[in-house]
Parts: sequence; structure tokens; C-alpha cells
Amino acid sequence: MPDPSFLLDGVRLAATKADPGLHIVATPIGNLGDISVRALKTLAGADHIAVEDTRHTGRLLTHFGIETPMMRYDEHSAAAQRPRILAVLADGGSVALVSDAGTPLISDPGYKLVSEARAAGARVHAVPGASAVVAALSVAGLPTDAFMFAGFLPPKTAARRNRIEALATVPATLAFYEAPHRLGAALADLSEVLGPRDAIVARELTKRFETVDNGTLADLAARYGETDVKGEIVILVGPPGEVVVDEAEAETLLGEALTRLPASAAAAEVAKVTGRNRRELYRLAMALKGGAQ
Ligand code: SAM
Repeated sequence: MPDPSFLLDGVRLAATKADPGLHIVATPIGNLGDISVRALKTLAGADHIAVEDTRHTGRLLTHFGIETPMMRYDEHSAAAQRPRILAVLADGGSVALVSDAGTPLISDPGYKLVSEARAAGARVHAVPGASAVVAALSVAGLPTDAFMFAGFLPPKTAARRNRIEALATVPATLAFYEAPHRLGAALADLSEVLGPRDAIVARELTKRFETVDNGTLADLAARYGETDVKGEIVILVGPPGEVVVDEAEAETLLGEALTRLPASAAAAEVAKVTGRNRRELYRLAMALKGGAQ
């Protein structure tokens, strides 16, 4: 084996052998300039690189002049490959895990491997870098003090709405990955279930056609319902309470909801739409009902 090395801007640089253990290495989500020097050193210095797709990662390795042997680790081969990787680790070797793009384990394979490696007493090293969810949050201008990454929504409408319903009261910005051909339908369901929240659609982050569109969910659902979209997409939805309706308007909405629903359901519906506190709305609903008697 030649000494480990890699190419950076056409200059060949030496790497040392990677420390024993499993290295979880983030790779770019589009712009190859986002790879870290530590990621390059780790990929060059590891005994093996476990990859989702050898052709995909092969192109990355060729670009950076890295010759470390690859082994497959995707959702189909994972169960069969884990014992092989764990055996390398047990022997004091090093394996770098990458996914096609971004940070492994974030909507990508690797969780069981990390879990079993840790259980077996192997060192698991983080080599952090790009992830589409964090890149989207960094440019969205939505609250980031608390966010919930909710991965991909279910593709079928009923399951998707149930899932959104389950997230409706989470007091945090919600983050989803979505396929372009489902974007319009997902935004329509998000708008219908969550009401008028601020949101963004971040597309092709770090790439040539990067766009970050903001608006209410209804705006975005209308915009993307009629557009044929391509590329990779993150949807972010601001937390409940970002679009606050004043008390008088909430009371009007509540009065209308009470003509159709019992107090608790009316309070829940109006809380969802207005971002106002559900318990306070329930108390108000009870008072309104009392007044109506
Ligand atoms: N592990 C990756 C990460 O850390 O972001 C995510 C892998 S997941 C299989 C792929 C999804 O991530 C895409 O379908 C898209 O929703 C999102 N994604 C990846 N790259 C993106 C980019 N450049 N811009 C917007 N979204 C992206």
C-alpha cells in the first residue's frame, strides 16, 4: 500500500493512518469545496471506506485522489456487511463510513452499525460536516433555538396527514426532507393540518441552482402546487405561535368553531390555526359556552 495521501486543489498532501475505530465522515451535499481537511485525511488514512454506492463515492474519491478500498454499506447489504466491519474494528483496524451526501445516519444508513460498534467496545469518531437540514436552518431565518428533524414524510396522503397531525403541537421549527415530485402535495397537507405558519422550501443547497423560498405554508403550497420542481429539497416550518392572531380574532374563530365542535376540539382547532395557547382557548371556550347558556 502506498502512504496515505489526498489531492487538494491539485496539490498532493500526506495523511497518516487513521486511528483505530469507526469514523463517521460527513461529505458535501453538493459543493465539493465543503469537504473538510479532516474528512480527507480520515478517508485517505482509513483501512476501508464503507459506502452506500461505490460509483457515487468513487467519483468523490477520484476527485480528491484517494485510493482507500471501498466496501458496500447500503440498506440492502447492511446486515451482511456489519459483521465484516465489526471484525475489522475488533482487529484494531479503521473503517470510515460515508453516505452518498451529507452526514451518515441522518436519513441515511449507519445507525445499527454505530450501535453495534459501540456495544462491541469500538471507538466511534465523529468527523462532522455538511447536512442539508442544518444548511437549510442556517439560511431560513426561522427560529433555530429548538428544531425537530422529522425526516421524510410518508408518501401516501392519509399516513402523511396523520404524521403531520402528530407533529402539530411540537414547540419547535419542523424540518423535513422531501422528494421533488411530492413537494406540492406535502406542502398542501402541511398547510391544511398546521394552518398559517411561516415556512421555507430550500432547494439544491450549495449547488448552482440553490433557491430558498419563504412564505406561509399556504403561499408555498400554491406556488409549488403548480410548478414542476426538480432537485433536492428541505422543507422547514416555523413553530406554532409564530403566526399569532390577536385575542379578539381568536375569540371570533372560537365562537365559530363552537358551533361545530365540542369545547376541547374547538380549542385545539383554533390553537392550531392561531398559534395561541390551547388551554387558555379551552378556558375561553368554556366561558363562551357558559355565556351562551
Ligand atoms: N445524510 C444527508 C444529510 O445529512 O443531509 C441526507 C440524505 S437523504 C437520503 C437525502 C435528502 O436530503 C434529499 O432527498 C433532500 O431532501 C435532502 N438534501 C440532500 N442534499 C440536499 C441539498 N443540496 N439541498 C437540499 N436538500 C438536500
